[in-house]
Amino acid sequence: MPFTVAIVGRPNVGKSSLFNRLVGTRLSITDDAPGVTRDRIYARAEWLTKTFAVIDTGGIEIGDAPFLEQIKQQALVAINEADLIVFVVDSRSGLTDDDNVISKMLYQTDKKVIVAVNKVDNVDLKNSIYEFYALGFGDPIAISSNHGIGIGELLDQIVAEMPEDNKMLEDDDIIKLAVIGYPNVGKSSLTNAILGQERVIVSEIAGTTRDAVDTPFKKDGKEYIIIDTAGIKKRGQVYESTEKYSVLRAVSAIERSDVGLVVLDGSRDLIAQDKHVAGYIQDYARAAVIVVNKWDAVEKDEKTMKKLTDHIYDEFKFLTFAEVCFVSAKENKRISTIFESVERAYENFNKRIPTNIINDVLLDAVSMNPPATFNQGKAKFSYVTQVSTKPPTFVIFVNDPSFVHFSYLRYLENQFRKSFDFTGTPIKLILRKKD
Ligand code: GDP
Ligand code: GDP
Repeated sequence: MPFTVAIVGRPNVGKSSLFNRLVGTRLSITDDAPGVTRDRIYARAEWLTKTFAVIDTGGIEIGDAPFLEQIKQQALVAINEADLIVFVVDSRSGLTDDDNVISKMLYQTDKKVIVAVNKVDNVDLKNSIYEFYALGFGDPIAISSNHGIGIGELLDQIVAEMPEDNKMLEDDDIIKLAVIGYPNVGKSSLTNAILGQERVIVSEIAGTTRDAVDTPFKKDGKEYIIIDTAGIKKRGQVYESTEKYSVLRAVSAIERSDVGLVVLDGSRDLIAQDKHVAGYIQDYARAAVIVVNKWDAVEKDEKTMKKLTDHIYDEFKFLTFAEVCFVSAKENKRISTIFESVERAYENFNKRIPTNIINDVLLDAVSMNPPATFNQGKAKFSYVTQVSTKPPTFVIFVNDPSFVHFSYLRYLENQFRKSFDFTGTPIKLILRKKD
């Protein structure tokens, strides 16, 4: 797990503004109306040679819980999820009762708490930080998120708390999931079902944007990040650009993911666009699970699953490695079946086969079914070795790659798949000339 910093504080102190400062770009929208909107509540930040994750807890809205309950819940998220907490207060309003409510909650944790007194936009305001000593978390730091003042000092203090051997976010143990699919198949609903009802960040304001949102979560002791592209269609009026934009977001989500959840609407027939979206999985060679959603709305008997699975494999020939799950996001049914498939897919996506073992499989396959002459030549395979994972990629050495017919490569892939469990993951076979 990466070193994680959570930003807490009552509304309007500038949490979202600070988050944007820390992660470097203007990712979220701030507005004077409290609690307006946030695009993203989780992102990486870098400082010097270090990388860490930042959570803007202000973006975590808990249903229609009352105000005080909301900030308590947000503080809890910080306590539970973070390694370090930045407690933001507002120099202009001074210390308030709500600040005290939050501080009481933060006393319950041993985690390091740094008080950042925001909106100290000029030196004249510096004295306003002293009253915040009363919070009891040591020296407050004066910052201005809007003007970038004090941010370096804050970052220095954060980094100073990080362990030396901190390997950070390229953490291979975190399974990154992208939820993709045509509009209305139920991506948002599915994302919410997966995350439980904790995180609901939907902007009701017309024309506001919401990018892919990365949300970390844990399930059965495993760590995940869900990359959700669901907000895209809510972007608004300029529909010409929306289509392109949504494709772009879907692609970038897939690119950053390990496993793509290809969501289909079980209550209607497959359409060309479903195939189109799923095709990105192939383009980027990601692991995949096909999720047939709205299963509650399907009239079914004991054969329906099998029939539909066959139909999907028939239509998506390039995705036959992926398992098919049938769920209802709306009724929160069978969601755990997705995780069984995701775990398998991820494990196989990272699978390594020792050279001697895969070699035996290659040689057996060739002697069982020798290649026919093709392009005036006969392929002679020497050996195969796995060169990488994510997905498993094999280099096969052959006298002349042009002698190998496409269908023969297919055959070899099938033989590999018969010998090893590659459920859920594509595998790549690359031919190399060996003299
Ligand atoms: P949040 O609700 O805590 O996330 O607060 P926001 O980041 O949305 O900021 C609330 C308001 O305070 C916005 O109008 C920001 O522009 C403003 N604000 C944030 N940081 C600063 C700052 O450093 N100086 C001043 N003067 N205003 C700020
Ligand atoms: P997205 O555009 O892919 O994010 O889809 P949404 O999650 O916004 O859902 C689109 C519509 O399908 C909404 O009206 C949902 O209520 C409905 N929906 C989503 N999941 C299910 C489900 O499992 N069953 C049924 N019957 N409807 C669903």
